[in-house]
Amino acid sequence: MNFYTTILGSGAALPTMARHCSGQVVNINGFRILLDCGENTQTQMRICHQKLQSAGTIFLTHLHGDHFFGLPGLLSTMHLCGRTNPVSIFAPQGIAHAMNTFMEAAGSRLNFEVNYHELSHAEGCQTVFENYLCRVSAFPLLHSVPTYGYLIEEVPRGSNPARRYAYCTDTGYTESFLPFIHKVDLLCLESTFDNSFASVAAEKLHCTSTQAATLAFKAEAGQLLLTHISARYKDPDKLLAEAQEIFPNTLVATDGESYVVHYPQGI
Ligand SMILES: [Zn+2]
Ligand SMILES: [Zn+2]
Repeated sequence: MNFYTTILGSGAALPTMARHCSGQVVNINGFRILLDCGENTQTQMRICHQKLQSAGTIFLTHLHGDHFFGLPGLLSTMHLCGRTNPVSIFAPQGIAHAMNTFMEAAGSRLNFEVNYHELSHAEGCQTVFENYLCRVSAFPLLHSVPTYGYLIEEVPRGSNPARRYAYCTDTGYTESFLPFIHKVDLLCLESTFDNSFASVAAEKLHCTSTQAATLAFKAEAGQLLLTHISARYKDPDKLLAEAQEIFPNTLVATDGESYVVHYPQGI
């Protein structure tokens, strides 16, 4: 079974030519989930050969612009391209009001239904979506506005164990969500700064590469994928080296690349 994520944007709040704002398409045996929808997501989907109309199930981590300013444009383009199938959007409270206000101001009308599923900021991990291929659960992260991490688990087929993928951004360092991502096969975690910016990271509620690796180590993750890289890093080698000191099986996400969620070692 295919299970991989294609990175549309691995940058932080300030997009660059190399790193766009947050967005990725997770493919679970042909079923696609869009995680975050920063500015330029629809263009990046085209560049990365992702069909726009396949993004009918969308999960937003939070309502900071670098994670959701691409949504009005994506929905408008879906409409222009003739979409009639509904779209489901899972996001923190406020998404429906924000989108309805925006679309009304723009005089935009969509020929398809948009179903908003607003998440309440309760403690713990809640299953928010399920179909015959996967299950998606949401859990709170530590950020300046309500923010959710997502755990995507495949439905096992035959004797294969179910692989698990977690996407956690934006968040300051906290161990509160470790129980929900214990032993995930691939952990995509934010690493906005290198370790010399630890105090800035703490103040802005972001992680350093060292902190991301520490979380991956404590979670006993299979592999760590760093994302939400600050525009100050033209070359992410420093982030990678710092993380690998603690958690060797680390990669830095690159826009346009796909990353497979591997089965646990030995299986
Ligand atoms: Zn962000
Ligand atoms: Zn943020």
